[in-house]
Amino acid sequence: MNEVRINRERCKGCGLCLKACPKNLLQISKTPNERGFHPAETGENIVQCIACGQCYQVCPDGAIEVIDGKHAK
Ligand code: SF4
Ligand code: SF4
Repeated sequence: MNEVRINRERCKGCGLCLKACPKNLLQISKTPNERGFHPAETGENIVQCIACGQCYQVCPDGAIEVIDGKHAK
């Protein structure tokens, strides 16, 4: 299964990854991180992730990691 990991503390909640995801699988957390930003998080439908990497590519803060399940060890 593909996996998307978002580093809550690195994220500024800019929302670019939400807009970039072609499947609309990301959302903004209701709970702020330690810097007071509401970070992006994966939604319930994250199982539909196609590991396209758009969210990872667009993030200005390097807060996203995408693991393509096909290539995972
Ligand atoms: S890898 Fe692609 S499909 Fe998966 S969450 Fe990121 S933008 Fe969406
Ligand atoms: S693009 Fe990066 S910094 Fe912006 S909300 Fe997404 S994870 Fe956070």
